[in-house]
Amino acid sequence: MYFLYICLETEVPLGCPKYTLCPDFIMNRNKREKEFYSLDVGDSTFTVLKRYQNLRPIGSGAQGIVCSAYDHNLERNVAIKKLSRPFQNQTHAKRAYRELVLMKCVNHKNIIGLLNVFTPQKTLEEFQDVYIVMELMDANLCQVIQMELDHERLSYLLYQMLCGIKHLHAAGIIHRDLKPSNIVVKSDCTLKILDFGLARTAATGLLMTPYVVTRYYRAPEVILGMGYQANVDVWSIGCIMAEMVRGSVLFPGTDHIDQWNKVIEQLGTPSQEFLMKLNQSVRTYVENRPRYAGFTFEKLFPDVLFPADSEHNKLKASQARDLLSKMLVIDASKRISVSEALQHPYINVWYDPTEVEAVSTYLLIMWPPPLITDKQLDEREHTVEEWKDLIYMEVQDWEERTKNGVIRGQPASLG
Ligand code: AMP
Repeated sequence: MYFLYICLETEVPLGCPKYTLCPDFIMNRNKREKEFYSLDVGDSTFTVLKRYQNLRPIGSGAQGIVCSAYDHNLERNVAIKKLSRPFQNQTHAKRAYRELVLMKCVNHKNIIGLLNVFTPQKTLEEFQDVYIVMELMDANLCQVIQMELDHERLSYLLYQMLCGIKHLHAAGIIHRDLKPSNIVVKSDCTLKILDFGLARTAATGLLMTPYVVTRYYRAPEVILGMGYQANVDVWSIGCIMAEMVRGSVLFPGTDHIDQWNKVIEQLGTPSQEFLMKLNQSVRTYVENRPRYAGFTFEKLFPDVLFPADSEHNKLKASQARDLLSKMLVIDASKRISVSEALQHPYINVWYDPTEVEAVSTYLLIMWPPPLITDKQLDEREHTVEEWKDLIYMEVQDWEERTKNGVIRGQPASLG
């Protein structure tokens, strides 16, 4: 086992296994379940079930604050994310709803597991906030990027990202927005993806109004508003790998136009064949940029960046560079696929079919399979009141399901 030297706050005691509900647990839960208490966390107030104690802020994202806590029922540490008024606008609502529905369905060791969902409000009229309880990890990948990683750790982290993404693809979910802040790790070097990325209908392209969001890891086809396929996520994994090797962001664009400039300055202006795939207005912009020759991968990732103190490490360094050169390809039709990346010599040392093709567990836990697809989820457009209703129903559905001892299942509403 390989360790990442991340400071662990407390040891997690052993408790009930994750997917079983023991009788004691159910009895105690019934007594305590409806009892809440409030405490201030930064600028926010967390109102959580009493079973969750010792809350400490551990991160914040676009949706709100995340705390670690000790769960007295499961006897383990957990992470709790507060979604404040998730129905307040289309963007928040769609993201929260999609996250709730998909988290309930997906089950893979490299995707964060859902442990509980609750709201402290008692009625739909009062409904305000949703709390999502997840497995607790030790750090996000931004913190790991600062460390000097050997080939074993680096390749193992990449292998797990690829396994998680492959699993999402198998469930019809293409992420498109994988980034270090949405990937979490434990000190034993295990890794999980935290979110489900951009909705299919999310507007992204060059001609969109800029708003503050990390775009460093977005693939050219996303930046340029082109059609995309599953290997859009391989580009992001390539950018993350490059950052882990270099210790700094590979394409640090200041806005969506600068993002494209950073890509072509380093990799070179793409061929005419690629430009022909762009729509007219984007092509005109791209063709009018200065032409860049780009750098070779030996220049972009010189030997000094890799541990190369032995013949074995020298071989690994050249394999790592080869993998980068196959993932960081502007034209998606010439870029490696997720399955090919998993077979690459730098990665395939970890290959375990039960992790790579974890469909059997998925089908078992998913039975009956979900009646809703990611595409259907994305196509939803609702008013604030309708979103409030839908999200509230998802929370209630969770409470119903867990009451009967079932942890995962299909979404509440399909209408
Ligand atoms: P999010 O709101 O999901 O984007 O998460 C924001 C940040 O909170 C992440 O970048 C992590 O640093 C942290 N975080 C979220 N969920 C977890 C978790 N389950 N375990 C550990 N840290 C987490």
